[in-house]
Amino acid sequence: MERAAGTITLHARVRGAEGMCPRCGGASGRVHGRYIRRLADAAIGGMKTVLAVTVRRFKCVNTVCEAVTFAEQVAGLTSPHARYTPVLRTMLISIAVAMAARAGARPHLPLPGGDRENEKTARRDDVPPGGSCLGCPPM
Ligand SMILES: [Zn+2]
Repeated sequence: MERAAGTITLHARVRGAEGMCPRCGGASGRVHGRYIRRLADAAIGGMKTVLAVTVRRFKCVNTVCEAVTFAEQVAGLTSPHARYTPVLRTMLISIAVAMAARAGARPHLPLPGGDRENEKTARRDDVPPGGSCLGCPPM
C-alpha cells in the first residue's frame, strides 16, 4: 500500500498457477508476461483508491484455439478493458441514475481522473447555496 497526493494505491497480484483461456476455456501455465492493471475502486476515508493488480499474460496451449495469448482475469474484480472495480462501477451507475432525476446536481466525489477532470464536470459554482449536490454533506 502506498499513499500519495490524496490517492491510496493498493498493490496485489494473482496467486493461481494457471490462467483460463477465455476462448477455449483451457488452462495454461505458460506465462508470456506480466503487467499492472490499475483499477479505480471505491474511496477509502474520502481518498481516491486504486488497485494496482499485477496480472499475467499466458500462452494458450490448445493448438486449435484461435487465441495465441490471453490476459488472466480475476473473478469478481477484473473484466477485459475495465477501468473500475465492480463496486465502484455500481456506485457510479447509482449516482448517474440519481443525477438523471436531478438535472443540474453534480457530485463531488474522490474519483479517478484527478481534480482537474472532476472540476470540469463538478464546478462548485454550479451548485446553488443550500446544496443540491449529491456528494456533499448536508448543510
Ligand atoms: Zn485457448
